[in-house]
Amino acid sequence: MQHGTIHLVGAGPGDPDLLTLRAARLIAQARTIVHDGLVDPAILALAAPDARLVSVAKRRAHHTMAQEDINALLVTEALAGRDVVRLKGGDPFVFGRGGEELEAARAAGVPCEVTPGISAATGAAAAAGIALTHREASSILTLVAGQCKGLSDQDWTGLAGKGRTLVIYMGVKTAAQIAEKLMADGLAPDMPLAVVENACRPEMRVLRGPLAALPDMVETYAVVSPALIVIGEVTAREDTALAALALEAAR
Ligand code: SAH
Repeated sequence: MQHGTIHLVGAGPGDPDLLTLRAARLIAQARTIVHDGLVDPAILALAAPDARLVSVAKRRAHHTMAQEDINALLVTEALAGRDVVRLKGGDPFVFGRGGEELEAARAAGVPCEVTPGISAATGAAAAAGIALTHREASSILTLVAGQCKGLSDQDWTGLAGKGRTLVIYMGVKTAAQIAEKLMADGLAPDMPLAVVENACRPEMRVLRGPLAALPDMVETYAVVSPALIVIGEVTAREDTALAALALEAAR
């Protein structure tokens, strides 16, 4: 029997309008969609009414399905001759564990195709009006995971600072640790940053402030996941009145 194909598909940051045409087509045609918790219901609504939707939603420290089991599920479907869409928030290869799924597919000898998606960094930047790079302010862009194995042992020296933009994924819970780590590395306490919560969704909030205030901002405004922390001068280029408005709107 011919193997099915595993499609690793990026669903983008939320708004269905930000899907690629290929992603929208694959979702509409899929018989089986294995999706995680970050995929917006409006995107799942594009699936055929009789498609099988399997949620493998993951929350911090609360895995509904272990990664190995997800890999096994995808491979089993493909070996049985069925195409399967593995739908993931943002881009499959940016903190999405798509690499592990691709490797599992290769190990099992089943075809795997990847459809990129708009990652949270570019989605949030667009929605909040923050140019991640700017000729006058930043020519280095770094994406890091704020929640990962051995965060405190990692060397973040030089990732943030003048002329650079640092985007931190999964950093809400570890915000205090992150601010402390960066300042210990010599980053100025008044380095501007923005927190973009629920980017590209109706409930989006954008908070701005200096690095030293990050833990307070997260606590005072009760920032929830998913949110990104963007650190660098590019976050402070907006008109200050606009920035004040954003903070006001978040209250
Ligand atoms: N593959 C995804 C990232 C998955 S990791 C991508 O490329 O975007 C999950 C983290 O992504 C969240 O903790 C959060 O930091 C970030 N994220 C995902 N969607 C987001 C959104 N709509 N707004 C802000 N941050 C988001």
